[in-house]
Amino acid sequence: MRLWIGTGICAALGCAAAAGQVPNGLKPFVKVDAPAVVMEHVRVIDGTGAPERDDQTIVIQDGKITYAGPQQTDQLTPANAKVLDLTGETVFPGLVMMHEHLFYPLPDGGPGLLPLYGEMADSAPRLYLAAGVTAARTAGSVEPYTDISVKQLIDAGKIPGPKLFLTSPYLEGSPSIGPQLHTLTGPDDAARLVNYWAAEGMTSFKAYMHITPRELKAAIDAAHAHGLKITGHLCAVGFQEAAALGIDNLEHGLVVDTEFTPGKQEGVCPGQLQGEEALAKLDVEGPQIQGTIRDLIAHHVAVTSTLAIFESFAPNRPPLSEEMRVRESLLPDAWGSFMTTRAAIAERAVKSPEPALGARMLQMEMQFERDFVKQGGTLMAGCDPTGYGGVLAGFGDQRELELLVEAGFTPEEAIHVATENGAIWLGETNRFGTIAVGKDADLVVVDGNPAKNIADVEKVDTVYKDGIGYDPEKLLASVQGRMGLR
Ligand SMILES: [Zn+2]
Repeated sequence: MRLWIGTGICAALGCAAAAGQVPNGLKPFVKVDAPAVVMEHVRVIDGTGAPERDDQTIVIQDGKITYAGPQQTDQLTPANAKVLDLTGETVFPGLVMMHEHLFYPLPDGGPGLLPLYGEMADSAPRLYLAAGVTAARTAGSVEPYTDISVKQLIDAGKIPGPKLFLTSPYLEGSPSIGPQLHTLTGPDDAARLVNYWAAEGMTSFKAYMHITPRELKAAIDAAHAHGLKITGHLCAVGFQEAAALGIDNLEHGLVVDTEFTPGKQEGVCPGQLQGEEALAKLDVEGPQIQGTIRDLIAHHVAVTSTLAIFESFAPNRPPLSEEMRVRESLLPDAWGSFMTTRAAIAERAVKSPEPALGARMLQMEMQFERDFVKQGGTLMAGCDPTGYGGVLAGFGDQRELELLVEAGFTPEEAIHVATENGAIWLGETNRFGTIAVGKDADLVVVDGNPAKNIADVEKVDTVYKDGIGYDPEKLLASVQGRMGLR
């Protein structure tokens, strides 16, 4: 029987891959370059949330998945196929991560210097791809034209990186949290910026902490008029208010919801700390937070989980062994900055009689996300490589999967959150998000079995994007010590 069909039309890059002609810019990073690839005896986690399946076969041709299922005795192997025995290895869909950035906090410059984020146009795309992230939505930009150029270079096969879905510069109210952000002057300004960035090619929008309800409403309406979606890391606007205004997605989850902060004024951010202190007094299972969960679900508002960044504010988390993994990728100054702050958080916890707020927030957020999904909410995932550093592109996304499992999701559910759910939000399920015939061959092959031990997602052997198999070691080595610099 014939198990694969020739695809008449394929994306330019997929066709190039199919012909075994990897573009020159990608060659140094490629491990598997063949017109067809047959993976045999591989364990499959397909991204739908279904349990792992052992001893499966996957066939890739013309950059697409042309077969996925049990081994067939009468199976035809394409004459020009590279056949791989993947006994002991697991394949899952390329990760579709939804709170990503091409920037990273620059090392602490010292007293009196501005807090700045540096665009990591070289290192971020490679770190993402090396970790198995084959599609990434940015969630706010500080160098929009660099983001656009990087996407164009990746799409043209000139540099390695994930399929990028770009989000506008932050739609931030007053006062803006940093010098790299524009400060909105009112609803007209919000609509003006949405229209401008839509025309420049941004496909989604990010509202930020100090945006007012009227500005947010204007931004939502303008985005929807373009058929585009908008997400937000809000503070001046509470979650239920944002849902009523029509927002499509909320970043970070419960920890940044300020609607329960006593004395909160309409349209004013009470401060992140005040918000967290108010939340800490609540019970996730209580009527207030459960009411918010029901309201978000009723309004079809997705939530993006960013547990790795919250973890970095809990004392002595993640374990240092986890952090040592990222050290080689970091500029030494950036590592120093990160360690200094990490140590300060741990020291504060030792000296304080109170349980650490960061640890409490992480625990509450995990509980919130579990309840949100249990009741039918759409949870997506991202790493948010910001904060004080240490959460890096790609590495942070793998850590996110581990933390979702710690939160109580099965490994298959965690992978579903980080693959198919993002693809659904992006409207790209016909291209990627699960392992199914006809989809782009965006696949991650790891040693071991993440369904038994989620940390095995870190043991990446090969990352396929459009059928080209990339070597994570080569991608990481090419930008060693550069994260925090370029
Ligand atoms: Zn962010």
